[in-house]
Amino acid sequence: MKCDVCGVRKANIYQPHTGLRLCKECFMRNIVKRVKEELIKYKLIKPNEKVLLAISGGKDSFTLLDVMSKIHDTEKLVALTIIEGIHGYNRESEVCRIKKYVRERGVDHIVTSFKEYSGYTLDEYVKAADSKSLRISPCTFCGILRRRVINAYARELGMDKVATAHNLDDEVQTVLMNILRGDLIRLIQTHPKGPKLSKHFVRKVKPLRKIYEWETAVYAYFSGFEFQETECPFITTRPSLRAKLREYLYTLEKVSPGSLLNILNTIDELLGEVINDVVKHLPKELPLCIKCGEPTALNRKVCKFCELIDMIGLDTKRR
Ligand code: SF4
Ligand code: ZN
Ligand code: ZN
Repeated sequence: MKCDVCGVRKANIYQPHTGLRLCKECFMRNIVKRVKEELIKYKLIKPNEKVLLAISGGKDSFTLLDVMSKIHDTEKLVALTIIEGIHGYNRESEVCRIKKYVRERGVDHIVTSFKEYSGYTLDEYVKAADSKSLRISPCTFCGILRRRVINAYARELGMDKVATAHNLDDEVQTVLMNILRGDLIRLIQTHPKGPKLSKHFVRKVKPLRKIYEWETAVYAYFSGFEFQETECPFITTRPSLRAKLREYLYTLEKVSPGSLLNILNTIDELLGEVINDVVKHLPKELPLCIKCGEPTALNRKVCKFCELIDMIGLDTKRR
């Protein structure tokens, strides 16, 4: 069967949400085009801006690396890889491979770790929490620390934007989690025009937010990337709300292709209508944590990170 777009090459991929059968070239062009459209629609990255790419070594991050290196000046891109320190995950061989792919695209690369930044690996944080019988999800430590490290590097390097590899599936999970928790402030922050709540934050953009997870996997595969297929062990051993939503949404998309895209497009439209009104009522600047000096939530004096490390009793470097 021929490709529905070029009509020349053999189709080898079926895109359920459009009903199209595509050849490899047209599929890859389709992904680059949709990323560009999203960036242009919301003016997310200007041509002269310096962008820090968060590259973990998973399929999404390689797709981000490849697409961004095709549509942005590679001299203005820097890739950052963070080793969380999870047993059986983030092995050294993965880091060598990431280095090679980043270098091949002419992009500068920085590798760091939770250990280097804060003094402890993720496993050590989790062990400390367990030893005090505190039921804190590893993903809570991991998410907070990763955001901190990325922002700190972006700030120190004078980057204009941070681009993360969140795909459509991730983004819909985040949107629904914020709706389920009734957290309007976090919900509007998922919108591309969401507010930057502190001058200490470098603005985050998600170029792949309209690309399905399966599409990033196929794109990475077609690009010749060998990516880390082992999932983080904490995904299955400690299921979080996100992991549960991921499964529900996977089933929904199978029954009704295009659902995730429709959910996100609808939420974007609705939020786009109210975002300025909501932002008007927010303070211009978040308060700073009295312990570490980083921005913290509106009603807090001590940030979530400092609160957690105080609870588990680790003498973590606070930067
Ligand atoms: Fe971190 Fe949780 Fe993702 Fe594992 S599943 S890498 S602990 S956020
Ligand atoms: Zn084609
Ligand atoms: Zn703090």
